[in-house]
Amino acid sequence: MLIFLKTLLLTLGILNLIIRKQFERRYKITHQNKVKIVAPVRERMLYLLVMFAFVVPDLLWVFSSWLIFAQIPMPTWVNIIGVFLGFFSLYFFYQTHQQQGDNWSGTLEIKQNHQLVTKGIYQYIRHPMYASFLLNSFVRILITANWMTMLPSFLAIVIMCFIRIPSEEKMMLETFGEDYHQYMQKSKRLIPFVL
Ligand code: SAH
Repeated sequence: MLIFLKTLLLTLGILNLIIRKQFERRYKITHQNKVKIVAPVRERMLYLLVMFAFVVPDLLWVFSSWLIFAQIPMPTWVNIIGVFLGFFSLYFFYQTHQQQGDNWSGTLEIKQNHQLVTKGIYQYIRHPMYASFLLNSFVRILITANWMTMLPSFLAIVIMCFIRIPSEEKMMLETFGEDYHQYMQKSKRLIPFVL
């Protein structure tokens, strides 16, 4: 069972990177016509922080016994639910990129023909991609029964959300004005109808 869970965790991580790479390739074409960039160095650092906070604990859990101190008792059915939620969060992550289309970027920027997306998942929440990161972080503890596989990524996402969301919304308000203001009235930030 442990080998099965380790293989699945690695598979989820690799699929995540493949999805990201695919959209980064598309971004290489669209980013040439950007008209505004916000705090690129800070944004790059946040991106790296999140990346490390996900990848390093996963690799330690799979390939070493360093994180054994953080192992907690958990029934197998919870691990299985974690695996299903893991694939769901991956699909959710893919959908957010897909629905953002050419407007997507890994850091904060506005492109020449930037379109405000307010449909699909975006009709309910303004930051579904960050919500998918939070879900992705949470499912780790269900799959591994080890709180150290969740804590660093969870903290990194919370830090990222606190720093990035206000800057991103300010940038979007400056760009789209009343349209974004109205969109803010109709949607929540991270959890539909709640927050
Ligand atoms: N915060 C969003 C998008 C993350 S990608 C999410 O969590 O899904 C970051 C880029 O998306 C930003 O540079 C911004 O230009 C763009 N963006 C954010 N919200 C957008 C929206 N509703 N429509 C179009 N572009 C958006």
